[in-house]
Amino acid sequence: MSIIAMKFGGTSVGSPERIINAASKAVREAERGHQVVVTVSAMSGETDRLLKLADAIDPAGSPRERDMLAVAGEQASIALMAMACEKLGRPAVSYNAAQINMRTDAAFTKAKILSIDDTKIRKAFDEGRIVVIAGFQGVTGEGEITTLGRGGSDTTAVALAAALKADRCDIYTDVDGVYAADPRIVPNAKKIPALSYEEMLEMASSGAKVLHTRSVQFAAKYNVPLQVLSSFEDKPGTMITEEVQAMEDVVVSAITHNTKEAKVTLIGTSDVPGTAAKLFSYLAEKNINVDMIVQNVGENGLADISFTVEKTDLPYIQKNEQALMSSINAKRVVYGTKIAKISAVGVGMKAHSGVASRMFNALAAKGVNILMISTSEIKISCVIHEDYTELAVRALCDEFGLASE
Ligand code: ADP
Ligand code: ASP
Ligand code: MG
Repeated sequence: MSIIAMKFGGTSVGSPERIINAASKAVREAERGHQVVVTVSAMSGETDRLLKLADAIDPAGSPRERDMLAVAGEQASIALMAMACEKLGRPAVSYNAAQINMRTDAAFTKAKILSIDDTKIRKAFDEGRIVVIAGFQGVTGEGEITTLGRGGSDTTAVALAAALKADRCDIYTDVDGVYAADPRIVPNAKKIPALSYEEMLEMASSGAKVLHTRSVQFAAKYNVPLQVLSSFEDKPGTMITEEVQAMEDVVVSAITHNTKEAKVTLIGTSDVPGTAAKLFSYLAEKNINVDMIVQNVGENGLADISFTVEKTDLPYIQKNEQALMSSINAKRVVYGTKIAKISAVGVGMKAHSGVASRMFNALAAKGVNILMISTSEIKISCVIHEDYTELAVRALCDEFGLASE
């Protein structure tokens, strides 16, 4: 029997009516003869509400306790979703991460999935049930509760699809597919009918929050066909698969933005071998992911190093700034919290040159100053002041023909 994995995000389960609407889609797949595993997020706003409570007590508080708190949102929605399926006439059962041994490492607030025990799920399938799983959460070998990072329910869904060898993983959300830019910023951005894992991965990792980055990595690794589609309209979404016939003339497929990072600059560090190694080993040990790095040319034996991290990691860095500075003899540290990273993504870049200069010129024409630059084979990213985010995204959509007239 074929298996379909489905995932409903926060807005899609934001009220009892919406939960029933989502359940009806799961029931429809079951009635078509599929075995159905449904991953659900917390009701919209709920995870934010819980984490705000934690911040009100201590923004740099224990990551273990933050996770213990944050999983409560999904705990509620799985039960409601299973009840809704049953109300619609289909037997269902909900499980949280511990119950299916959704094993992760112990990196609280950003844990990685290691394995899943599918015994209970398969048994429930044999009993004809729809299986509802709590997204975003995991459990360590020691029984500690973890979360996969904000937006992590996508990753739960794809990991389940991979473990169960599902035919497809449908990600139901509040947009009807993946667009060339966030439709909240560029309402006339073009919809992308099909994308390769490679492009979607660059889009997700550079800020397109429509999919959690690790969900795309899982999908690519285990070759799970992904579809992003609307919970509210019955129409085809965006398919994300291995091979997509690239259109020759499409140089840039999408513009993304990310305002969730902060810049840390360490001034006057020793310009000697091993400085960067020490600094970034220190951060890696603390599970702090660094995105962009810029080091200036050293003068008088001193150099400055800037890097960007998730804003959520800043309280920890600030709390430990003395240790960080003394590890590399930095004189001062400066923080930039009002930054945005704007990226142009497209496999077409492999075959076309001049994309970077077009991007920089389009930003310059709007008076946008570039603070940092990084590139990969299919992506160019610029860090700018946060206030120019919308202006920059719109200008780049115009430059690369990604918005309809
Ligand atoms: P869910 O709660 O269903 O997981 P998210 O809010 O995490 O939903 O993701 C959907 C949102 O992603 C959309 O409402 C949209 O604003 C945003 N988004 C950002 N970039 C894109 C993009 N390129 N295409 C579509 N949506 C995007
Ligand atoms: N509820 C979690 C969040 O808001 C996970 C998710 O929705 O994917 O980040
Ligand atoms: Mg999401």
